[in-house]
Formats: sequence, C-alpha cells, structure tokens
Amino acid sequence: MISLSSRAHEKRLLALRALLADKGLDAMLVGQPENRRYLSGFTGSSGLLLLSLEQNLLLTDSRYLEQAGEQTSHFTVVQVRESMASLVAQNLRETGVKRVGFEAQHVPYATYQRWREGAGQVEWMPVQGLVERLRMVKDEEELTTIRKAVRVADAAMSHILDIIETGMTERQVAWELESFMRTHGADKVSFDLIVASGPNGAKPHAVTTDREIELGDPVVVDIGAEVGGYCSDMTRTVCIGDGDEKFLEIYGIVVEAQQLAEESLRAGAGAADIDGLARDFIRSKGYGERFGHGLGHGVGLAVHEGPTLSSRSHDTLESGMVVTVEPGIYLPGWGGVRIEDLVVVGEKSAEILTRSEKMPVAGG
Ligand code: ZN
Ligand code: ZN
Repeated sequence: MISLSSRAHEKRLLALRALLADKGLDAMLVGQPENRRYLSGFTGSSGLLLLSLEQNLLLTDSRYLEQAGEQTSHFTVVQVRESMASLVAQNLRETGVKRVGFEAQHVPYATYQRWREGAGQVEWMPVQGLVERLRMVKDEEELTTIRKAVRVADAAMSHILDIIETGMTERQVAWELESFMRTHGADKVSFDLIVASGPNGAKPHAVTTDREIELGDPVVVDIGAEVGGYCSDMTRTVCIGDGDEKFLEIYGIVVEAQQLAEESLRAGAGAADIDGLARDFIRSKGYGERFGHGLGHGVGLAVHEGPTLSSRSHDTLESGMVVTVEPGIYLPGWGGVRIEDLVVVGEKSAEILTRSEKMPVAGG
C-alpha cells in the first residue's frame, strides 16, 4: 500500500524535476536538512540527495542506513564508505550528467571545491531557493501536522495565562511553557521561547532572563511547538495585574493592525501590500518608528521560511501558504506589545489557525 506521505514525496520530486528542466540542469545535490527531508522523508543529520533525471540517490553513512531505508520510498540508499565527496564524484561520472545544480546558500566552499576536483568535466551551477520555493505551499498532510503544532502551543498559552503572576521569573515562565508543550504532544520547541517582561519587551528578539515579573509589566510571550518536523509560532502579550492607559492604547493599535492585515490576506495579494496595511495603520497612530520588523514570515519545516511579509518583499501570496501576522510596537525603557497569529492563505480569505485568546490582562 502506498502511504499518503509517499505520494506527497513523489509529487514533490516531479515538481522539482520540472524546475531542473527549466533551468537546463540534469542533476541536483540537496543537503540542506529541511530541503532533504521535504523531498525524501529522511530525517538523519547526515546525508545528501543526488537527483538526476533517471534516479534518486540518498548518500549516507552506516549510522543511518537502516533509518534511511525505513523513511524513504523513492530513493536508492547508497552507503558512504570513504568520503561523501568521492562518492558524489563517482556517481556523477557514472551517470554522465553534465550540468549539476547545488544549493549555493548551504554548501561550504571547501565542500564545493572537493566536489569540483573529484567530478571532472561537470559544470557546477549555483542554485538558490529552488526547493524552498516548493516548500512555501503546503499540502493537506503538512497542514494537518502544522495544525497539531498550533494546538499544542495554544494549550500551553492558555495554561500559562492561568498561572502567570508577579514574582515569577521570565525563565520560570519559559520553562513552564516548554515542559507543558513537551508533555502535551510536542517533539520539541520550535525555537528558544521568548518571555520578555517590562522593559525587556522593547527588544523584538529579547533573550529570556532571570528578571522577576512585576505588577503592571507588559509581558511578551512568543512560543512555538514542533510536531512531526513542522513548526508553529505564536505571540501573545499580557499585562500582569492591571493594564495602564498606555498599555491598553498600544495593545488596541496592535490588535487592530493585525486584524486589518488578516482580513485582506488571500491568494493573489502582494506580501508587501499586506505588510503595508498594518504598517500604515500603526504609522497613522504615531508609532510608525516603533514597528521595525517585517509583518510576518512563512512557517513549515523551518520556523522562518518563505514567503516574507515585509515592505521589501516581492512575494505574492498563494493558497496553502502558512504565514505569521505579527505586528508589534516597541518603546525603549517601557516595553513592547507583539501579537502573532499563524494563518493559512486561502483563495478568498485566510484561516486563522491560532486560537489563543487576545486578552490584555492576566494574573496579578
Ligand atoms: Zn514568534
Ligand atoms: Zn514569527
């Protein structure tokens, strides 16, 4: 019986071959871990795919032979005995391929040199974003897995909003979230969780510290779970005890900016235009300078992948893309408010996956 996931890999390989043909390539090497997993299903830490027009090879060492055989169904697994570079060279010579693509952004220069020296008369073509382009649009199986990762994070968020209180340190809150997720279905967290209280929240990528949460602190909580290789990513901000006027004002602006963007997210929309909707609104309220980062990013096997929602993005949204919508306002010395949803782009609208309540005040 052919599993759904085996069909998915077959489809992806067909799509990649069409792209290779477009570029006049007769083979490609894929080693970037998420790209490799996407095409083959193989999750080992070491391995290289050699995709030519006739065959799919997975080159890996003895540690992974059994796993590679179990996880892949469209690949011939070849054991690396001497070095990966000599095996690559040998296979390229045997298959007689002429133009070989390689992942320009992921191959170390020294590796490239070894391949080039060993393979003889092969023309090496640097390729960028080819598999990444395919990964942007998710199939049903991927969406199902992402939904699971979202549900775990949602449950963790509602758990923490129940118990968060003054006197807890950022680190305690982060560990509570992490252990909750890892005992409720997550394989791991999808990034180092961010818990940024009071003035620490003014840094969009704050590092979690031993700072104790005080009454009236805004706390930015940015979390994600990884399930079956797929990530989720979500942020909520709450004020502990009681939100003052300034917090409630800024919170309201961020929620409204997010809503404006989410309402317009659909297939065919320009990613830069969606970013602009949230950005222009925040600017109209006088906080334009305080929203420095892009509005969102794609999420899948990697927690940050394409497309990019920012003012400089040239991406156009397509049905099946999974992106974050995460406007924020950051005031040095005071703190920050960021609210982040994960959504699936559809033909006419976007489906918001994150269900965690947006409540400005918690605990005490
Ligand atoms: Zn996030
Ligand atoms: Zn994010």
